[in-house]
Amino acid sequence: MLNQFTISELTARLASREVSARDATQACLDQVARVDGRLHAFISHNPADALAQAEAADREIAAGVTKPLLGVPIAIKDVLAVKNQPLNCASKILGDFISPYDATVIEKLKAAGAIVFGRLNMDEFAMGSSTENSAFGLTRNPWDMTCIPGGSSGGSAAAVAADECIASLGSDTGGSIRQPAALCGCVGLKPTYGRVSRYGLVAFASSLDQIGPFTKDVRDSATLLGVLSGLDPRDSTSVPQPVPDYTKSLTGDIRGLKLGLPKEYMIGGLAPEVKAAVDAAVKKFQELGAEIVEISLPHTDYAVATYYIIATAEASANLARFDGIRYGARVDGADPIELYSRTRGAGFGPEVKRRIILGTYVLSSGYHDAYYLHAQKVRTLIRNDFLKAFEHVDAIVTPTTPTAAFKAGEKSDDPLQMYLSDIFTISCNLAGICGVSVPCGFTQNPRLPLGLQLLGKPFGEESLLRLAHAYEQSTPWHKEKPAI
Ligand code: GLN
Repeated sequence: MLNQFTISELTARLASREVSARDATQACLDQVARVDGRLHAFISHNPADALAQAEAADREIAAGVTKPLLGVPIAIKDVLAVKNQPLNCASKILGDFISPYDATVIEKLKAAGAIVFGRLNMDEFAMGSSTENSAFGLTRNPWDMTCIPGGSSGGSAAAVAADECIASLGSDTGGSIRQPAALCGCVGLKPTYGRVSRYGLVAFASSLDQIGPFTKDVRDSATLLGVLSGLDPRDSTSVPQPVPDYTKSLTGDIRGLKLGLPKEYMIGGLAPEVKAAVDAAVKKFQELGAEIVEISLPHTDYAVATYYIIATAEASANLARFDGIRYGARVDGADPIELYSRTRGAGFGPEVKRRIILGTYVLSSGYHDAYYLHAQKVRTLIRNDFLKAFEHVDAIVTPTTPTAAFKAGEKSDDPLQMYLSDIFTISCNLAGICGVSVPCGFTQNPRLPLGLQLLGKPFGEESLLRLAHAYEQSTPWHKEKPAI
């Protein structure tokens, strides 16, 4: 089935005219029609528009045009602006807002020939780890419909795992690409801060947010990273670092590379099956010729607390713009203050309100120094831990999550338990480094995918992808499909 192809499989067949972009797009749309009533990875999609883009791609292919993603259907998390499409961030507060412009990553996808379709479900404003905080209802895990797909990019992960698209985009502030990728059995990459422009990404925590791909294998992740990366004058935090051909680093040869195993990450709450899968992966890396070194990241214990101060502080400032005046939904009031408070009271869900209140508190006078300033200092210590470790190792290996996917509803009344599901992914954003999650096995009963996280140096995506690819190619995990 054409919708099951990877980017590299599909582009090869499109180039040889064995298949058409229209047929590949139709296959994805058929799969959405078949499974999405149950899965709910998509908030909305427009089949006619997707097919029109596919037909245009077929005309270009017939004219001999070559582009890296020509004719490849890619679906988008509902936090990225796509011109003339709804943009809701899975919130009620944006009402019937339609984006007037394309995010830089969307411009890049379109320029590379991709068919950009659909709005993928997520936790409201990317705040969450289960996609249960969406104002548009739950997304299910394609491996077990009673479980969550992870979050906040749960729709992006579920759609790729269920072959509703060839690849997708998500955003990662504290793990929102890697964690759902792990729980749904796909590859999720968070690039180094500054590698990919954030222009057109609705900001959650601006110093932590990065956009990245969800794919069916590591090669596709390398292809997409090459398309998405680069300096953008519209995002002053994007970096003028040259963009290599990342697929060239997928040599399969990882002999002599050094992998760090942080002793602080094999913690008590780690599920035995996760530990066993990570231990087996470490053995596999050794067989492939990598050297394993024990390292220490001594400030790991402070990461979750530090993140929830910095992320909520930035979110409280970023979300101030949703006031019912400039765009989105409005609930009228007798005066502007009443209008703001009614609009925000009705428009934001409980988790978003909790974060805004927390963020406002840690920034308020009297508490700013005790919480926010302190957290910034601890953030530097966490970053320094990583930079020190990278003096000795090429990458760091950890579990992506402490457990496999949990049941819908299991943690929704316990924010702290929910926050702890990001314990292994959060430090990477605080440190501004890159990270990827690749499938590394399954639990037995029920059979749910597990993810291995590799963390790399700032702008070290090439070694990261090389390691991830060598591991993937010597294991069977990425080939398995959910029975949906
Ligand atoms: N789960 C984390 C949070 O709720 C991370 C979210 C994200 O990366 N967008 O903040």
